[in-house]
Amino acid sequence: MQFIPSADLTPFNTFGIAARAEFMARFHSADDLRTALNTPELQGKPRLVLGGGSNILFTRDFPGVVLLNEIPGIRVVHEDDTNVFVKAGAGVVWHQFVLHTVEKGWSGIENMSLIPGKVGAGPMQNIGAYGVEIKDVFHSLEAMRISDGEVITFDREACAFGYRESFFKREGRDRFVIVSVTFRLKKAADVVNTSYGSIQEELKRAGITHPTIKDVSNAVIAIRRSKLPEPSVLGNAGSFFKNPVVPIAVADRIRADHPELVSFPSTDGTVKLAAGWLIEKAGWKGKRIGGAGVHDKQALVLVNHGGATGAELLELSEQVMRSVREQFGVELEREVNIF
Ligand code: FAD
Ligand code: NAP
Repeated sequence: MQFIPSADLTPFNTFGIAARAEFMARFHSADDLRTALNTPELQGKPRLVLGGGSNILFTRDFPGVVLLNEIPGIRVVHEDDTNVFVKAGAGVVWHQFVLHTVEKGWSGIENMSLIPGKVGAGPMQNIGAYGVEIKDVFHSLEAMRISDGEVITFDREACAFGYRESFFKREGRDRFVIVSVTFRLKKAADVVNTSYGSIQEELKRAGITHPTIKDVSNAVIAIRRSKLPEPSVLGNAGSFFKNPVVPIAVADRIRADHPELVSFPSTDGTVKLAAGWLIEKAGWKGKRIGGAGVHDKQALVLVNHGGATGAELLELSEQVMRSVREQFGVELEREVNIF
C-alpha cells in the first residue's frame, strides 16, 4: 500500500480538474485495502474510492482519503460447454479487460469497448453502451465493507441494477469498495449484438456481413474515436447527464412541436429521450462559459477546454438543466458523480 499526503488529483480525473486529497492510498489487493482502512491517521476521515476517475467531477479538495484501486488480475474461475466465468480484479483497466475477452473469443462485452475507467466501477453505474449493459453479463462481485473490512459477495439481484444505477450508486455509496467482479461470457466469437444503427452502419462501411465479436469491438472503437473527445486531449467524463425516461404522453407532447425528436420506446409504456438531442435543441451544443463547455459533436458531454474549475462545470450543468426544463418540461439528472 502506498500512502501519499496532500495528493494532487489532477492526473486522476479525466476532466483534468485541479484538486487535492488530504491523503491518497493506492492499494493492490483486498488485504492492502484493509491495511489502508485501518491506518491510524485515516480513522474517522471521509473516504472516496477512485478507479480511473472518468465519471467524477471534483468541485473542491477532498478532505479525507482517496483510495485508489489498483487490484490486478484476470482469471477463469469456472467453465462449461457454453459459458466461461471470468474474474477480474477491480483495478484492471476496463478496455484492457474487454480486449482480453475479445482475443480469447468470449462474447458479451465487446459492445462496451473503449469505455474508460476500471472494472470495479463498472457495476457502480451498470455501465452500458450500444445496447449492452454490465448487468447482462454479470455473475457476482466481491466488495469490502468499509466499516469492518469484511468481504461480501453480491449476486445480480443484490446489486439491484437499473439504468446507469445500482445498489452501489445509491444505498451502498461510500460503504463498500468493489474488489473483484466475475462475468459470465459466452464461448462463441460469432454471437453478436448489432441492434444499434451506428454499429450496423460502421460494419457496412467496412464491408463486413458476418461480424465476429472482434469486428463489433473494432466498429465500436472506430465510432467512439470519431465522435467522443479523448480525455487526454479535451477533459471530460463522457455523458454528463442520463437519458431521461418519461411517460409516452410527455414524449408525444414534445414531438407535437418537434417531429424530429430522438426517442426510444420501452415495453413498459415509458420512452427514453436522447438527452443530447434536448440539450442541442436548447441551443447548448458547442457553447462555452470560460473554460467549461458543451462538446461540439455530442451535446451530452461537458468538456474542460482548459483551466475550468469543477464549480464552473457544475454551474454550466445547472444552466443546461434549467434550459431543458424551461423548453421541454423535462428534468435532466446528472450521471457524473459530484464531489
Ligand atoms: P471513477 O470515476 O473512478 O469512479 C466513479 C464512481 O464509482 C465514484 O463515485 C467512485 O467512488 C465509484 N467507484 C469507483 N471504483 C469503485 C469501486 N471499486 N468500488 C466502489 N465504488 C467505486 N460510461 C458508460 O456507462 N458507458 C459509456 O459508454 C461511457 N463512455 C464514456 C466515454 C468517455 C470519453 C468518458 C470519459 C467516460 C465514459 N463513461 C461511460 C463514464 C465512465 O467511463 C464509466 O462510468 C466508468 O465505469 C467509470 O470508471 P472509473 O474507474 O473511471 O470510475
Ligand atoms: P447515439 O448513438 O448518438 O444515440 C443517442 C442516444 O440514443 C444514446 O444515448 C442511446 O441511448 C440512444 N439509442 C441509440 N440507438 C438506440 C437503439 N437502437 N435502442 C435504444 N436506444 C438507442 O449515442 P452516443 O452518444 O454516440 O453513444 C453511443 C453509446 O455509447 C450509447 O449506448 C451511450 O450510452 C454510450 N456512451 C455512454 C457514455 C457515458 O458516459 N455514459 C459516453 C459515451 C457513449 P443509451 O445511452 O441508453 O444507449
